[in-house]
Amino acid sequence: MDLLEYQGKQLFARHGLKVSDGEAVTTVDDAVAAAGRVGYPVVVKAQVLIGGRGKAGGVKLAADESEVREHAGNILGMDIRGHVVRTLWIEHASDIASEYYASVLLDRSAKQPLVIFSVEGGVEIEQVAEEHPEKLIRRRVDALRGLSRTEAIEIATEGGAEEDVIEGVADALTALYEVWLEEDATLAEINPLIVTPEREVRALDAKVSLDGNALYRHPENQGLSDRENEDPIERRAKDQGVQYVALDGDIGILGNGAGLVMSTLDVVAQAGGRPANFLDAGGGSDAGKVKQAVELILSNVAVKAVLFNIFGGITRCDEVARGLIAAFVEIKPTVPFVVRLDGTNDVQGRELLTEAALPNVYPAKTMNEAAEKVVALAAGEPVGASA
Ligand code: GDP
Ligand code: MN
Repeated sequence: MDLLEYQGKQLFARHGLKVSDGEAVTTVDDAVAAAGRVGYPVVVKAQVLIGGRGKAGGVKLAADESEVREHAGNILGMDIRGHVVRTLWIEHASDIASEYYASVLLDRSAKQPLVIFSVEGGVEIEQVAEEHPEKLIRRRVDALRGLSRTEAIEIATEGGAEEDVIEGVADALTALYEVWLEEDATLAEINPLIVTPEREVRALDAKVSLDGNALYRHPENQGLSDRENEDPIERRAKDQGVQYVALDGDIGILGNGAGLVMSTLDVVAQAGGRPANFLDAGGGSDAGKVKQAVELILSNVAVKAVLFNIFGGITRCDEVARGLIAAFVEIKPTVPFVVRLDGTNDVQGRELLTEAALPNVYPAKTMNEAAEKVVALAAGEPVGASA
């Protein structure tokens, strides 16, 4: 679960990491009022779940009320690479002497937390990481002992932090590590971590992702999910308790079991298709569940064909077929469905589908056959007779 900058900063502040005063607003008038309270000059910052806001024009300094009005007006509603700005963060502007970078994440292959620090922070950090990887200090941490003061000082020193702010950087790294650990974050990143002319070290930006599976341990964080900016279909799926991930292709994928759905994505990709989603209908096969899943997939208008892939184990294919038929009679999908039923009672299931003679439904016996059919159908090519 990704957090907006200002939400990340709230977590930072909770753990003693220094951030600037600010307020989140959703209208131009509120932006002006907030700026008055925060104190000029201010920064007007787009709150969207994507980086590079500065380069896209979503971060602007404002010296007075008219500038806040102008920038807030321009940034609200702005589309930053597919993310529409609905919230602004109005923050008291900082003077910047240096821009550093710091992050804590999980190094999965090493099974250890990883602290990364660089004195070359700022908007070009990706380029620095690519062209001068030696300018990023990476230090793995013993998860049981945590990040010690000595290690934090070493990271700051080896990374080349200016002499007089090594303590301040070590404090920031320690607090960032604490955020990552205690909030069950998968990523806690500060770019830039600034040094002010007064030699204070402060987080000017925040990128925090929380582990959604650990949210139950943090009731105070449960309100942080950015419902507004979530994919609306993913949001509906979550409300219905269905595993759904939006992708950007045109073939809807529906299966029972996460493993099966993942292999289905692979097989469709191999057949030259582009999946539009990942949808795991889970166990069970009643018509209501099938209907919900089909409706979710079809609410993505990019979907040109759907592959319904069921492997029957405890779930019986004839029951799934009955569910499908009941659902289809009601929904009457206008895009073609390829239905692959395999496993327990698959023959009966396919017979039921054939008998029902649903328009636009193409049964398939194997996953490869199903993938090839659905790719052809999505491309508008004719395939063998439908059920
Ligand atoms: P990002 O582009 O999405 O990473 O947004 P940031 O919050 O990192 O802001 C981008 C850049 O704007 C920063 O690297 C700073 O150079 C600049 N910036 C942000 N806040 C301030 C501020 O308070 N004062 C000054 N002088 N520059 C700022
Ligand atoms: Mn940034």
